[in-house]
Amino acid sequence: MFKVAIIGAGMAGLSAAGQLHQQADVHIFEKSWRAGGRLTTRHKDYIFDHGAQHFYVKTKAFEAFLAPYMKQGIVQRWDARFVEFDGDHIIARRRWNEAFPHYVAVPGMEALGHTVARNYNIQYQTRITQIVRQDQHWALFSDDIALGLFDWVVLAIPAPQAAALMPVNFVHLDQIKVKKMQACYSLMLGYKNPLRLDFDAALIKNRDISWISVNSSKPGRHKTFTLLAHSTNHWADQHTDLNRESAIEHLVNEVENVIQQNVSSADHIDLHRWLYANIGRQSGQANLVDYENRLAAIGDWCISGRVESAFTSGHTLKISPM
Ligand SMILES: Cc1cc2nc3c(=O)[nH]c(=O)nc-3n(C[C@H](O)[C@H](O)[C@H](O)COP(=O)(O)OP(=O)(O)OC[C@H]3O[C@@H](n4cnc5c(N)ncnc54)[C@H](O)[C@@H]3O)c2cc1C
Repeated sequence: MFKVAIIGAGMAGLSAAGQLHQQADVHIFEKSWRAGGRLTTRHKDYIFDHGAQHFYVKTKAFEAFLAPYMKQGIVQRWDARFVEFDGDHIIARRRWNEAFPHYVAVPGMEALGHTVARNYNIQYQTRITQIVRQDQHWALFSDDIALGLFDWVVLAIPAPQAAALMPVNFVHLDQIKVKKMQACYSLMLGYKNPLRLDFDAALIKNRDISWISVNSSKPGRHKTFTLLAHSTNHWADQHTDLNRESAIEHLVNEVENVIQQNVSSADHIDLHRWLYANIGRQSGQANLVDYENRLAAIGDWCISGRVESAFTSGHTLKISPM
């Protein structure tokens, strides 16, 4: 069997492992202590899905991949009361249902990555810092620690990080370099006493926030009331260096302006800045493969900033021993 190193245990890396593990000896390296990447959950005093909020299923392959997890209840439908705001005005309202199902992992978005990861050989807390040619192989390093020799290396990390780590002879390097990923701030608010809201999920136009959800309204969540807001990518891109207090203050104001309620009385306030949160719809290949050098790059950024795109990028990866 040929040896493949996959760098990154997000949805793209995990789905590539699923695709390759029967033909290759697959080793995944993940810098975090857990799998899932941006499909994640934060546990402090309160619990929030501060990355991906939900996902849809558009392809048969993703449907088949999710089927066992749906059967086990790890993936469930979120029939949210959904609204669209234009500024502080609600302009549309509907309940999500089986006609166009919106799914979440249970009891938190991280559960999907954790469950899938159990099938594979993953070395956690290992940030790959260098990929070096050694004769016919690639040698991987985490700082000065050598991690072995591999026939193929697959980078399953956001495009700017892939561009920095990929060996310079990768034939598609210029295609990675031009991919612009967008930032996002996640504001997390937890309450001992629930707020009164007549929606569970909201898309917002014409403000610096684009999304508010009652995280605790998703299936299988802890009942303690939690609210999650995402900034727009545009505002986050313009304020990546803003200090934490100012970012919180601005985003709390934005939430208050949209829902016309005081939210600053939260018992718990937290913030996460994503530098590489998202990317718009891309044209081109679902993954970038250099057969001569035996290197590949995959990730949502090849297709669009969606969980299913990350899955498809890994799932359609085709590599061979030589
Ligand atoms: C705020 C936010 C909201 C979103 N909302 C939605 C949504 O509602 N619906 C939806 O479908 N999608 C949403 N997305 C997008 C979705 O989360 C992503 O498309 C998908 O999770 C990307 O998966 P990936 O495997 O391509 O990358 P990632 O999930 O980023 O995985 C990359 C992995 O590589 C690891 N890594 C990076 N560098 C190294 C290194 N040098 N060495 C080792 N490991 C490394 C990282 O730790 C990470 O685990 C959202 C994303 C964000 C951030």
